[in-house]
Amino acid sequence: AVPSSGEPDGARGRTRPHVVFVPSAGMGHLLQFIRFITTLSSHDVDISVVTVVPTVSAAEADHLAALFADFHAIRRVDFHLPPSDAAAEFPGADPFLLRWEEIRRSMHLIGTAIAGVTPRATAIVTDVTLVSHVNPIAKNLGLQCHVLFVSSATMMSLLSYFPIYLDEKKNPQAGVGDVDIPGVRCLKKSWLPQPLLNLNRLFTKQFIENGREIVKTNGVLINTFDALEPVALTALRSGKVVAGFPPVFTVGPHNTQATATTKEDDEVSPPMAWLRQQPARSVVYVAFGSRCAVSHDQLREIAAGLEASGCRFLWIVKTTVVDRDDDAGVRDVLGDGFMERVEGRGFVTKEWVDQEAVLRHPAVGMFLSHSGWNSVVEAATAGLPLLAWPRGGDHRVAATVVASGGVGVWMEGWSWDGEDWLVSGKEIGDKVKEMMADAAVRERAAKVGEEVAKAVAVGGTSHTSILEFVAKLKAT
Ligand code: UDP
Ligand code: UDP
Repeated sequence: AVPSSGEPDGARGRTRPHVVFVPSAGMGHLLQFIRFITTLSSHDVDISVVTVVPTVSAAEADHLAALFADFHAIRRVDFHLPPSDAAAEFPGADPFLLRWEEIRRSMHLIGTAIAGVTPRATAIVTDVTLVSHVNPIAKNLGLQCHVLFVSSATMMSLLSYFPIYLDEKKNPQAGVGDVDIPGVRCLKKSWLPQPLLNLNRLFTKQFIENGREIVKTNGVLINTFDALEPVALTALRSGKVVAGFPPVFTVGPHNTQATATTKEDDEVSPPMAWLRQQPARSVVYVAFGSRCAVSHDQLREIAAGLEASGCRFLWIVKTTVVDRDDDAGVRDVLGDGFMERVEGRGFVTKEWVDQEAVLRHPAVGMFLSHSGWNSVVEAATAGLPLLAWPRGGDHRVAATVVASGGVGVWMEGWSWDGEDWLVSGKEIGDKVKEMMADAAVRERAAKVGEEVAKAVAVGGTSHTSILEFVAKLKAT
């Protein structure tokens, strides 16, 4: 671009990009946006963030408020969601999925808001769940459109290949089966996000539309790093998965230290204060993400397992999907006497903890996790072994990366949501005990942590990828 010669903002030839972020809903999505936004804010770009209000959960509202309070240069573009009939149309749908649909249906209005920002926008970075609606609007406005993808490169290969898989199926009546992604790997039917098995589901309709659109965008930013998923990244970049795939920027793991969510007072929050008193590598950290409601029966088996393991543990219990309705007492759920029996060696809470701080803490020895992608990447960064117990969604796809990338161990046989059998407390306790004692697993995870440090250092693959993305933003 030609440098501007004293022209007003918004005139042709501006070299300073103005990026408008369009996040969707759910902490797993929002946290990554916040983290990447804060990273980008240290580069020579203007940033706006479309903020859809009200948020679904209280945690989302808090984190957005903290972002704008801490970074005054980041502009907030509030969007008041108009009433929608999506909830009536899809009764019983997950509240976050419904919100994605509501935002998708309002995207023309959000497009108008984006067209009105000053200085003139030059690019949009959207959440993947909205891309089929955002990309055409960006193209109409003459803006670059990039996707900030919140899952793995392996999941990106599934998303972009799935529509082709359906188109090429010899017997369309036969239903969805194993999906063999060219150049990546064959994903078994039982590993797929299970809604994909039903082509009439809201999730699946969105997934297919978004998957078809990806290839038409200007770039895909993924919270991963080259050494973690070399095979999937090579296949995406070489066009093996989908011909003509846009540039892939591997910008992970996102920098979490600099974000508004890392507050000093977390250091003295009750779980952190408790951790400080525990011996090195003695604690099993147990958490299933921000929105995974494990059944009460399964929670009781986990309790029995942790108790039987004899290990110390810090357990974050979520009993409902949205934190605002979370009032089931932990004591009621876990049954009589459990809290008393584990007093001193177990810390159980349903509050939001700073997971990153927990994973970094020297007292923690392993992470029993639902294998949500953020958790996987955070464990990789901390070099802490992860025991993957997928619960639903893309967790089994993420677990393939846990196993192949050396982050930890995947319990492929353990049941997830929708399978009507429980993993017994005995099995959980035995596995936890075994993994706490496994030096080889610990060493592999520590090596992954070293790879992360290299990737994000100056000259590393992720650091370079961010600079390449900024250069692309300037090339308008
Ligand atoms: N996803 C996608 N395209 C869509 C909707 C979802 O690629 O249109 C991805 C999403 O980013 C995640 C997975 O599909 O990787 C869905 O996982 P899940 O149901 O667990 O939802 P999430 O945890 O992402 O909110
Ligand atoms: N998280 C946290 N404290 C909590 C629960 C979750 O900091 O009490 C963070 C966690 O560090 C991660 C995100 O919330 O960054 C959860 O994302 P993930 O992809 O692991 O799971 P999801 O919640 O999307 O299922």
